Amino acid sequence: MSVRTRFAPSPTGYLHIGGVRTALYSWLHARQQGGRFILRIEDTDVERSTPEATVAILEGMAWLGLDWDEGPFYQMRRMDRYREVLAQMLAAGTAYHCYCSREEVEAMREDQRQRGEKPRYDGRCRQRTTAPEGVAPVIRFRSPDDGETVVEDLIHGTVRFQNSEMDDLIIARSDGTPTYNFCVVVDDWDMGITHVIRGDDHLNNTPRQMQILQALGARVPVYAHVPMILGPDKQKLSKRHGAVSVLEYREQGFLPDALLNFLVRLGWSHGDQEIFTREEMVEFFRIDAVNKAASAFNAEKLLWI
Ligand code: GLU
Repeated sequence: MSVRTRFAPSPTGYLHIGGVRTALYSWLHARQQGGRFILRIEDTDVERSTPEATVAILEGMAWLGLDWDEGPFYQMRRMDRYREVLAQMLAAGTAYHCYCSREEVEAMREDQRQRGEKPRYDGRCRQRTTAPEGVAPVIRFRSPDDGETVVEDLIHGTVRFQNSEMDDLIIARSDGTPTYNFCVVVDDWDMGITHVIRGDDHLNNTPRQMQILQALGARVPVYAHVPMILGPDKQKLSKRHGAVSVLEYREQGFLPDALLNFLVRLGWSHGDQEIFTREEMVEFFRIDAVNKAASAFNAEKLLWI
């Protein structure tokens, strides 16, 4: 089966170098395996997404030569498809309407806390046969109650999640719009993604996404969660550590290959080789050889390349 990877940025700001490194790893894996690399713009957060940010992503990727084979696909243009899958799941019983108000869910959680239990939605609408009038329901995924969901991550190794700790996820809001995790699942399925390579801030979303894929009868992709890039002080990388937007490097006159060479080595190495041509990167890179610890970014070192 041929490899299909993707880069799925949310266009809510500039193209961050942390995001670029993730994109690079995903691109390298596709190129090395003779696979395809897909670009998907996750623009469902309408409050925070901007057309300027989308342009900056496309420009940054083009400048770096991280070419994509399919897309860009925009989630906002795929709403009909998400609604279609929601309807299928409701019909199949793998999802259900939940009419509980926010207050009711909060009260349920408070009771559970009082009893010393971990708060979670108790699934009380699963069995409901009548719809209360005048209440717009959300749609919840009927998640498995027992057992565990095991992520065999290429970078983090085996990560186990107890199903009893995950409640029935809301996959569509009361206004009918699908939620983020659900869109990602449908996209990865429709786009035939074989390897999900993304930031490890998404690792906790993975068991839920896997459960939904399984409920849909879809093949679960292989996951590789790339660790964060931190500043030299081990804090979250931000402007005070130097330029974090890719286009700033372009403006400063850096060569794309210098930036990519620098980024590829933050968290991956090949012997003690320091400089790689693009062809060498493609040849030598191994996604399962990426470090699982966060790497530190030191903008000053970049000047020496
Ligand atoms: N849109 C997400 C982000 O920018 C990525 C989600 C994913 O790769 O699954 O962090």
